[in-house]
Amino acid sequence: MRVTLLGTGDTTGTPTVGCECDTCETARERDIERTRFSVHVENDRTGESLLVDFSPDFRYQFLRESVALPDAAIVSHIHFDHLDGLGNVFRVFDSLDVYAADETDPEIGESVAETVAGDYDYLDAVTVQPTTPLESTRICGFDVTLVPVDHPPLVCYGLAIEDPETGAKLSLSGDTSYAIPQASREVLADPDLLLADAIVPAELCDAHPIGGRHEDEEGVARTFGTKHMTREGALALADDLGATQTRLVHIAHFYPADDAFVEPLALDGETYEL
Ligand SMILES: [Zn+2]
Ligand SMILES: [Zn+2]
Ligand SMILES: [Zn+2]
Repeated sequence: MRVTLLGTGDTTGTPTVGCECDTCETARERDIERTRFSVHVENDRTGESLLVDFSPDFRYQFLRESVALPDAAIVSHIHFDHLDGLGNVFRVFDSLDVYAADETDPEIGESVAETVAGDYDYLDAVTVQPTTPLESTRICGFDVTLVPVDHPPLVCYGLAIEDPETGAKLSLSGDTSYAIPQASREVLADPDLLLADAIVPAELCDAHPIGGRHEDEEGVARTFGTKHMTREGALALADDLGATQTRLVHIAHFYPADDAFVEPLALDGETYEL
């Protein structure tokens, strides 16, 4: 399994357009970046590729990394930074299966699969495959399981992607608070590589209108606001899951410049062989 981190940033990316903060300026000076979230997973046994989420930066990411176009894709949830790159499929793909959860979101009265199908009904190449969470589905030769996470007010899903032949396992937290249900944690457990949402360091919870939550024994917030894990929350998740290796993703430019480009925060273009 070859994993390429196409996009490791949050919804505005780093550098953020028009932003002159030290973190964005440092990224420009060092010519490094965090575009909107997407991960490319290649099955080196079958030659197939699976895409996780359609970043609005889809075209640029594929040109930059020179990875193969995907044979199938998964959409974790319907936020802009994970879905709105799907329009790039137009005139580039003849056909593409897009897997998304089939559970009705009580907030909007439809599932992720239904929203994707409805919003992109003009894309004849796309076939949406409604997928039941917590059940394994074979995609591109991998056993893939969507797991419910906690990203209010919308439903959102993490992922476990396993090669049934080699046992290699990639887990993704998805966009989530620290309150990932136990049943989901059990599916995500023991990955060779964990990609965990770590939007900001916990110290920045003071700047959030409702602060942080899910504090640890020392009072450090593992959730920023309600929707995302802090850096400390993501690392606590990695510990809880027993991850062999962890990269922090969905990173915002709000990290102070001194903290923004250090381990284990991911940058675009990193690759991993599992
Ligand atoms: Zn900035
Ligand atoms: Zn989101
Ligand atoms: Zn996001």
